[in-house]
Amino acid sequence: MSTSTPRSIAIIGSGATGYTAAKVLRAEGFTGSITMVGSEQAAPYRRPTVSKELLTGTKSIDQVQLGNPIDGVDVRSGVTAVGVTDSAVLLDDGDPVQYDALLLATGSRARQLDLPGHVFTLRGVADVEPLHADILRTGSLLVIGGGLIGCEAAAAARSLGAEVTVLEAASAPLNRIAPTAVSQMYRDLHADNGIELHTDVAVTSLETLSDGTLRATAQDGRSWSAGTVLVSVGSVPNVELGVDMGLEVGSGILVDAEMRTSTPNVYAAGDVAEVPNRILGGTYRSEHWNGAVDQATRAARSMLGIPPGDLDVPWGWSTQHGINLQFAGWTGPDDEYVLARGSVADRRFTACALRDGRLVGAIGVGYPKDIRQIRLLIASGDRVDRSLLGEDWLDQPHAVVR
Ligand SMILES: Cc1cc2nc3c(=O)[nH]c(=O)nc-3n(C[C@H](O)[C@H](O)[C@H](O)COP(=O)(O)OP(=O)(O)OC[C@H]3O[C@@H](n4cnc5c(N)ncnc54)[C@H](O)[C@@H]3O)c2cc1C
Repeated sequence: MSTSTPRSIAIIGSGATGYTAAKVLRAEGFTGSITMVGSEQAAPYRRPTVSKELLTGTKSIDQVQLGNPIDGVDVRSGVTAVGVTDSAVLLDDGDPVQYDALLLATGSRARQLDLPGHVFTLRGVADVEPLHADILRTGSLLVIGGGLIGCEAAAAARSLGAEVTVLEAASAPLNRIAPTAVSQMYRDLHADNGIELHTDVAVTSLETLSDGTLRATAQDGRSWSAGTVLVSVGSVPNVELGVDMGLEVGSGILVDAEMRTSTPNVYAAGDVAEVPNRILGGTYRSEHWNGAVDQATRAARSMLGIPPGDLDVPWGWSTQHGINLQFAGWTGPDDEYVLARGSVADRRFTACALRDGRLVGAIGVGYPKDIRQIRLLIASGDRVDRSLLGEDWLDQPHAVVR
């Protein structure tokens, strides 16, 4: 630890980022005070279970806690930070928290659509019970948004026996992370499980019919009805405190490679942070679990003056109808995908994403080791011999040329 180690650290947000940072601070030997405030009533928990085990009811909140309470960390649940001065965090319960160093770990919230009528969104554990109960009450769910969370919620609702329809504005589901062939695999997977999925649907209005059913109508006049409507159209980072503090903010709170914001004793990490991409240049915002944990670890070390090391190549996963998809890197719509192992039709494969001949990402089902290996290759910055990509390529290290 450096000589300028802070004596008191405040963490705003008690999700994966806040919790991990507190844990790493203690693991690295920090003995000063740590206060973590979080708006949610629940103790830190595994948010990915919200659209999976918690929504299906196969796990309870007690079974998805992030871990044991951390030694000597003052956790204030159900408390919101409403302002930050140079030395204190102002809380809605009136009791400010003094700090020498501050971590903004405020994550993101569900994006809303300006539609009338009672619709649900899904971000935290407090959203689960009302949505679960309504799905069971009405027996039908319309999901607006065919991204990862919308598709997972659709699968969960189907497992509860509901009639489920998904409406996606783009031409394919999961289109932010999946190439066409994988999107098609997901269309088939949902169809096999009795879910109706429609693409190129821009919902423009929602009305409540006399029997309480909701009817969504698209720009082209098509309409769909259901008893319950979930809007799942992405997330918005909670940057407001950072903006009020005058920090540099882009698509998230901008940080350097050590997770420092534009104010030296203020750090940001996780969904709310916009971090440098040391491999491809530019910046990005991770919206996945691994990014939260990895960035929190680096932020905690930086706060203590310990060199934080390089950020991992990001990766995420999604579980739908028992299929576990993994994806990594920084993929884009124009990337070329090369199948490296297995078959997409068999729902067991690894595909690599190339941009200008450079390995930039991967996606796959059933071969998690491949994804790990590809992340290492991306991190190394090595170029890939395109002609060698193919079955079992990942078992052949000579496919990488320097
Ligand atoms: C439904 C769902 C399913 C997901 N599934 C997956 C998955 O399968 N795989 C995967 O890789 N990723 C998944 N993710 C993404 C992953 O969960 C997030 O990337 C991760 O939780 C981000 O952690 P975070 O701590 O940065 O932010 P968050 O988890 O958003 O936590 C931020 C916390 O800060 C609190 N907060 C915000 N503002 C304030 C304030 N002013 N004062 C006090 N507290 C505040 C919030 O209430 C929240 O509790 C999923 C996300 C969701 C919503």
